Amino acid sequence: MDQSYLIKPLLDKEYPVISHGNGVYLYDVTGKKYLDGSSGAVTASIGHHVQAVIDAMADQASKVSFVYRSQFSSVPAEKLATKLSSITPGDINWSFFVNSGTEAVETAMKISIQYWQEVGKTDKNQIISRWKSYHGITIGALSLSGHADRRKRFEPLLEKSPVVEPPYCYRCPFNLEYPSCGLKCAEDLERAILEIGNENIAAFVAEPVIGAAAGAICPPEGYYQKISEICKKHDILFIADEVMTGIGRTGKMFAMEHWHVTPDIICIGKGMSAGYTPIAATLVSERIVESILKGSKVIMSGHTYSANPQSAAVALAVIEYIESQNLVSNGEQLGDYLLQKLSQLKQTYSFIGDVRGKGLLLGLEIVADHATKYPYSQEKAVTPRLVELAQKNGLLIYPASAGIEGIGGDAVIIAPPLSINQQEMDELITILELTLNELQAEL
Ligand code: PMP
Repeated sequence: MDQSYLIKPLLDKEYPVISHGNGVYLYDVTGKKYLDGSSGAVTASIGHHVQAVIDAMADQASKVSFVYRSQFSSVPAEKLATKLSSITPGDINWSFFVNSGTEAVETAMKISIQYWQEVGKTDKNQIISRWKSYHGITIGALSLSGHADRRKRFEPLLEKSPVVEPPYCYRCPFNLEYPSCGLKCAEDLERAILEIGNENIAAFVAEPVIGAAAGAICPPEGYYQKISEICKKHDILFIADEVMTGIGRTGKMFAMEHWHVTPDIICIGKGMSAGYTPIAATLVSERIVESILKGSKVIMSGHTYSANPQSAAVALAVIEYIESQNLVSNGEQLGDYLLQKLSQLKQTYSFIGDVRGKGLLLGLEIVADHATKYPYSQEKAVTPRLVELAQKNGLLIYPASAGIEGIGGDAVIIAPPLSINQQEMDELITILELTLNELQAEL
């Protein structure tokens, strides 16, 4: 390729240029093949080049690609909202379409503040969140994100939203053990609410399984039930940020279903269109929409491309494909298998400290010392090296951060498409082992 003027994540790095994809594989312009073991950023959940989605895209493009949301609705946007209301838990029936996970979270922030205004509680305008979290990159969503690295540069502009400890059992923030801990991490939400005053808090937001900021941390049993009770007790909306977990990634359509908890608002993105086109959504309960219908009747948010017909047609085709191919249960079965294999690898490689996750959202945390769980120094850059070695060997995995606040740590996410088959999964594990051997030799 000639000199490129495309600004990429690392401006001085050369990235392989992908020419095409098929199923779980991507191919670059030199012909190199990659097994997409992370679905990009946990996005390409049905694999690449699915004909049914390509056909839906072409069909919609032949009709109309854009209408403006303040002037028109469209057939695919209506159908998609109906479809989503049929798969969402509880009374979460309404969809507000946006273009990225970040926007879905920002919209959830605004809707939850507006809800309390509609019912006359105008002081309830703070949104609280947990440390070790990622909710998006714009100033609002970044304010919620307990991700020190991503916040650092913009700290003066950010709200101090992360105030609650995460359910990080491998490194319990309270140095306790489950179950004798009595779920102190969930009680930490109540501590924060009492400090701030529930009369000032609109909502609490959490990722069901913590992704980018932690490498697939799953809470202990009972955690979300307790969180939900605390939110209800203190009249605080519960926003589940399912941008990474939603639409089947963890073995259920929505990860919150694992714990039989229905939030007030759910944010989805990524797997919603499996990367075929940008679309995300803020899914809202009847109770919230009713209050707005009785009150101002307008949600003060939206984007030019909100509810874009082209994107809506694609997302509808993706969800129908996931259902018709039983990809949620396929992902769950192969996720269980992968989790078992990763747990075996933990016995072989002393630097694998923790193996965790749900469905096909799994994580490995790397440590310098198994017994003390102390991480490698940041200078060693173990996570980027592991990702780089895997890529060299033809396997894509996703770098996450983990470890100890202020000291750092290493984790990667393994999250192949839900459509992966047994043979491809075994190939993934073989390449991963080869990569771990190389890392071991270097460490
Ligand atoms: N929330 C969560 C839980 C995410 O994982 C992400 C993306 N990693 C976002 C929000 C932001 O989504 P986007 O990158 O599409 O803006």
